[in-house]
Formats: sequence, C-alpha cells, structure tokens
Amino acid sequence: MAQALIPVAEARARILAMLTPTAAEPVMLANAAGRVLAEDVVARRTQPPADLSAMDGYAVRAADVASVPARLRVVGEAPAGGAYDGTLGEGEAVRIFTGAPVPQGADAIVIQEDTERYGDIVIARESAVPGRNIRRAGLDFKEGATGLVSGRKLSPADIAFAAAMNQPSLFLHRRPRVAFFSTGDELVRPGMPIGPNQIVSSNNDGLAALIVEAGGVPLDLGIAPDRREAIRAAARKAIGADMLVTLGGASVGDHDLVQSALAEDGLDIDFWRIAMRPGKPLMFGRYRNIPMLGLPGNPVSAQVCALLFLVPALTRLAGGEGHAPRTVPARLATPLAANDQREDYLRASIDHVPGELPVATPFPKQDSSMLSLLSAADCLIVRPPHAPAAEAGALVEVLPLRF
Ligand code: AMP
Ligand code: MG
Repeated sequence: MAQALIPVAEARARILAMLTPTAAEPVMLANAAGRVLAEDVVARRTQPPADLSAMDGYAVRAADVASVPARLRVVGEAPAGGAYDGTLGEGEAVRIFTGAPVPQGADAIVIQEDTERYGDIVIARESAVPGRNIRRAGLDFKEGATGLVSGRKLSPADIAFAAAMNQPSLFLHRRPRVAFFSTGDELVRPGMPIGPNQIVSSNNDGLAALIVEAGGVPLDLGIAPDRREAIRAAARKAIGADMLVTLGGASVGDHDLVQSALAEDGLDIDFWRIAMRPGKPLMFGRYRNIPMLGLPGNPVSAQVCALLFLVPALTRLAGGEGHAPRTVPARLATPLAANDQREDYLRASIDHVPGELPVATPFPKQDSSMLSLLSAADCLIVRPPHAPAAEAGALVEVLPLRF
C-alpha cells in the first residue's frame, strides 16, 4: 500500500477535478445570500426608469440661471413617486425632490441650499449647468442587460442589485449535502455518559459548523465503532448525499479501518497520503459514485484539512470556482527552524501594527490534538516544503482564521 506523499496543491486539484456542481433550483431573494448563481441575471427594467433628480431643490432651464441671482416663478411640485405633468416655460421652476422625474423643459436642478424662497418666487444664488444633479435614464443599468453572471457567489450588494433588476427569485445551485461520521470506540457525543477510557467527539460538531459556514448542509451520521460492518453501515447512510466525509481511522494502524472496510463496499481510492502537517493521512476517492474525503481523526488535523480541502470542494459543488484559501503576507515575531518535506500549517497569533504588515507569533506547542490552541489561533502560518530557517522579521504567508 506504500504510496508517495502527494503535495497539498495537487491533492486539492485532484479533489476539485472529480466534483460537479449541484443542480439549480429557484430561490427567493431573501434566502439567496452566499449562494451561487446557476444562471445569468438579466435586468427586467431600466434604472433609473426616467431622468430623475439627484437632489432636493428646483428643476430649472439652465439658460434661465446662467447669471445669478436669477428670479424664477415656482409653477408646481414633483415629489418622489409623483411628477410635475406640465412643461417648464421660460423663467419657471418646479420644486423637486430626490428621486422625482425631471419635468419636461427642465435641464438642470438647482439645489435647495443655493436658493431662497419667497411665496411663488425662488431666487437661485448659484448658476446652473445643463445636466447638473440629474441622473439620466439607464444610468445604472438598462433593461435586457446582463447584470450578474452565472457562477457568482452572491454578496449582499448582489442581492440588492438583483432586486433592483426586478428579479424576485434567482436560479441558484442547491446547497451541497455533506454526510459525515466519526470512527472510534473511544468516542462519545458531548454530554452523553462516558466511560473511563473514552473521550468526547469534537469532530462531529466542529465539522458541521464548518460545513454550514462553507454553504453546505451537514448530515451528521454520528460515531461508528471500530468495526468494519459498523463503518459500512454508516457509510451506506450517506447514499443520496453530494459528498461523504469520514473522520478518523484513515491511517494504517490496526484500528484504522475506514479504507479496508469500504474497499469491499464500493470505495475507489484516488489518494490517501499527503505531504502536510497536521494531517498526513488524508484520503480521497469515490464511494459508490459519491465523492468521499477521509479526514484524519486528530481534531486539529481534521479542522485544518477540512479548511484546505473540504471548503474548496464545497465551493465547487455549490457551483463556484473552488480554490486554495487565500493567504496574506505577515512578518514573523520569532524565528522558525527549516521545514522538512511536509507543508506545515502552524497555529499562530496575529498582532496588528498600523502602517505595517501584521506580525505572526507561532505558538510554541503545535500538537495536532490541542483544540485550545486552534481555537486561540488567529491564523495558520504556511511553511512550504523544505522552507529554509527563517529569522524574526522574515516574510511569511498566513491563512487568516479570525482576523
Ligand atoms: P485516528 O485517525 O482514528 O487514528 O485518530 C487519531 C486521534 O484522534 C486519536 O487520538 C483519536 O482518539 C482522536 N480522534 C479521532 N476522532 C475524533 C473525534 N471525532 N473527536 C475527537 N478526537 C478524535
Ligand atoms: Mg481511530
């Protein structure tokens, strides 16, 4: 079963290559945030629909207000949602409010602050320029134009834009359903009766949270004991899901049974060891046509590997691009020794220094069982394979966790 350790980037590329986006479904705008468009969004109207005033003030003929002060007669009013139906004649003005249509004959808005009003008379104190303070019809977008392109993850601004285009619902990719279970005789759910040789399973709830944050729907299949039949029974419950994730039992110890149990039951392995720390025993393949990711059981490894591989996979399943999580440059607070052949993800805190790059302090302990440290970490410092020793002050790339 010996297999070379494959690099992190290659592992991710191989996972992404095996995934196809979920089908589209219509979704009301109120539920669309953070999801991915399965279709282009086309404007169903022109915005603004007519020339509108951009300010509160007076609609005028610019020629009448070329030299100031200019004295005009107020002949009517145009509130937002209303209009002045007449045509502006020479020496006339219409009281107008932001968002109201500019009356026929007017070609500029004098803002309220530059006027004085005496009954039916308004005095303009500043000269008007044609077009000033008018938003032209179609300034924002025109009916029939493509506003948002398929594959885009919708931001709050995108949702507002879709609403303005008069689209009450959108065609979005279905949220990917991710079934998962932990393996291990030692594991017990939080809050349940626990034996002397047992520990609490942290991975189920941690992974569910991560799946939700990445736009998926978690299907928690619980904890399978370290028996082949139990592992097979758990895996079968994943049928119908878009992805299966197993937690633990992924390396080659006598009790690491996931691979051998499922090999007899439709698992086709693509790879199962990667050159990274934490988390060498990462497994990927297909279980009966469902893409399957086997994460290491150590809680820090499980979370870090999920961030690096499951989050991009969910993005791809949900219809997006799916790429490596973005890193940003930082400076080391303390020196680091040279790295070996495994890409290293070091838990670290971040300090912000105004006008300078953030400063990353790696924690002295990097044990992959220590959730207290992962929870405390602001970032992961990424150390490429064979990175040379680094001095304090050296530039490193960090993967932000909470800054
Ligand atoms: P394994 O990958 O099954 O060899 O597990 C590696 C280590 O992670 C062992 O110490 C397990 O007890 C621990 N572990 C496995 N699964 C979980 C889990 N769901 N929650 C907390 N620790 C776990
Ligand atoms: Mg185990």
